[in-house]
Amino acid sequence: MKKLNTLAFLTLGAAAFAQTPDPEITAAAEAIEDQVIEWRHDIHEHPELSNREFETAAKIAEHLKSLGIEVETKVAKTGVVGILKGDYPGKVVALRADIDALPVTERNDLPFKSEVVSTFMGEETGVMHACGHDTHIAILMGTAQILAENTDKIHGTVKFIFQPAEEGAPPGEEGGAALMIKEGVLKSPDVDAIFGLHINSATPVGTIAYKPGGTMAAVERFVVKIQGKQTHGSQPWGGVDPIYIAAKIIDGFQSIISRESNLLVEPAVITVGKISGGVRFNIIPETAELVGTVRTLDPDMRELIIRRMTEMSEGLAKAYGGSATIEFQSNTAITYNDLTLTEQMLPTLKNVAGEDHVKLVKATTGGEDFSYYQEEVPGLFFFLGGMAPGNTEAYPHHTPDFQIDDDGLLLGVKTMSQLTLDYLNAK
Ligand SMILES: [Zn+2]
Ligand SMILES: [Zn+2]
Repeated sequence: MKKLNTLAFLTLGAAAFAQTPDPEITAAAEAIEDQVIEWRHDIHEHPELSNREFETAAKIAEHLKSLGIEVETKVAKTGVVGILKGDYPGKVVALRADIDALPVTERNDLPFKSEVVSTFMGEETGVMHACGHDTHIAILMGTAQILAENTDKIHGTVKFIFQPAEEGAPPGEEGGAALMIKEGVLKSPDVDAIFGLHINSATPVGTIAYKPGGTMAAVERFVVKIQGKQTHGSQPWGGVDPIYIAAKIIDGFQSIISRESNLLVEPAVITVGKISGGVRFNIIPETAELVGTVRTLDPDMRELIIRRMTEMSEGLAKAYGGSATIEFQSNTAITYNDLTLTEQMLPTLKNVAGEDHVKLVKATTGGEDFSYYQEEVPGLFFFLGGMAPGNTEAYPHHTPDFQIDDDGLLLGVKTMSQLTLDYLNAK
């Protein structure tokens, strides 16, 4: 029966295959739904901070091993990578789940509420899966189980990437997607495409939201150091005022957005979040500093804005008699959904979730380190509904009241499993 299906699909080709979610896969996902929810509760109750996901990683590795999946641990410190070979040769697809929690003290009254306390940057804090990465882990563990039990449906190889430190490694440490790539997670076997999802507390259960192209922003942190010349506050002509220059630079930055960026292509944001300089009212200080962030969704706009911010800082400081340097630090790249891959996989999303439950959405100015994988290989990152039906108050991610409804997980398992099969079996 299974062999016959395989032959049938080979004859019919990709388009025909993608028309229907495999009923056996759907049934398998439904059969393990309770187990997936149980995993999620356990992980939610035992959250671990970025680069400290030791117990979480151990649980994941144990599960993958029990399925007969080849497992590598301690990738990018605490990451787990599983490799599952299908019964037939083919491409390599990677599925990624991030596994870290946040320094947030949970305020929800749940039977699986987190009571964990840890230390973050020298301070005691509660720890909570306040971004929903607990659901990502459970969904990918469930997907691994389904695919491991159906290798006769797989043409190619599946790489399960359980990635630490999506929220950012502690200061002074490397981590996250960038480190996983550096350690070769996309190599041997070389990954052809990657899929990832993020649960969303404000999207109703049963809904998938997606956007082709730039879907989450590149996040840059910048520091502008302005050098002036100190003088008495009553005699500004005796020096160079770095605070005045700071004001001109802030003004110049916003003109890059309002006068130079084609906002019809994508939105972009420059925010100066911190300004410092000076000690008292009657001294014009020697230096001033601006610290802020840039958010972009289009690679060309990103390049333009960074170049112009550099020219503005240096040029304006010079025009007013001082000097300035600017440094950028990239926190994430653009979460850029490959246009061809998105178009190819959209029928799968619609077939699994139902046409009416797949929403084309606007980009967000938040960032996601899944973007680094997408700089290397074509990738698709989409959002999965986690808001309980009838809920009118969805608390944002990263807050103590953040909640995800368990009913959202099943669609995640179905979608990840079917995306894998449809992608691998397409040609
Ligand atoms: Zn987050
Ligand atoms: Zn997140």
